[in-house]
Amino acid sequence: MAIFPENLAELARGTKGFMPTKEGLALFDLASAIPSTLSGPIVEIGSYCGLSTIYLGEAARQTGRSMLTVDHHRGSEEMHPPSPYFDQSVIDPVTKRVDTLPFLRRTLELSELESVVTVAIGDSAVVAGLVADPIACLFIDGGHGALQEWVDYASWADKITVGGLLLIHDVFEDEKDGGRPPFEIYTAAVASKQFATFTKDMGSLRALRRVS
Ligand code: SAH
Ligand code: MG
Repeated sequence: MAIFPENLAELARGTKGFMPTKEGLALFDLASAIPSTLSGPIVEIGSYCGLSTIYLGEAARQTGRSMLTVDHHRGSEEMHPPSPYFDQSVIDPVTKRVDTLPFLRRTLELSELESVVTVAIGDSAVVAGLVADPIACLFIDGGHGALQEWVDYASWADKITVGGLLLIHDVFEDEKDGGRPPFEIYTAAVASKQFATFTKDMGSLRALRRVS
């Protein structure tokens, strides 16, 4: 079993974001266990300030894999006022717009993951069009709006190599607990028969393996 270092656990505790420790450690365990015979990077949609990136990036580092993290850094619909997810400290003082890129860079520097994780600043679907090769793992945690979640799934899931992982965050079976789109793409992935569950659920994190 791979070991998540204590210095990174401490860094994660001080990093802004939306990844409970238990689910972050599950991300680390899942990504660490990808067989070395499967080539290709780990891809994350939704870097924000790099909290989940620490867990996936460390798994990539330990297994000699590369990682790409994708975000336009302008925040999701649900991160603007008056949402409870709005954070004034990620507003650029000059442009007055959300800019989480400086926070991500700081996280990557402090975690010494700069040489492992490549940062793509842009719209998820546009970046997907620039990535031609198969990927070993896709983590979808970008915009959770009804359209964006489907766009992320449609633009990226086919790139996952057979045997590779599809990880989806904020999947809530009961709509009282959260928005529908992540649950909808999870359901669609299972129904497609291209993906199958293989491990127990971890909070709102769902893990699927590409089987065909
Ligand atoms: N994984 C992060 C949380 C991500 S929040 C953590 O662990 O804390 C969702 C992120 O998705 C936001 O930073 C937002 O800017 C980004 N996002 C939303 N829509 C996007 C799009 N169309 N393309 C790229 N990034 C997008
Ligand atoms: Mg999330």
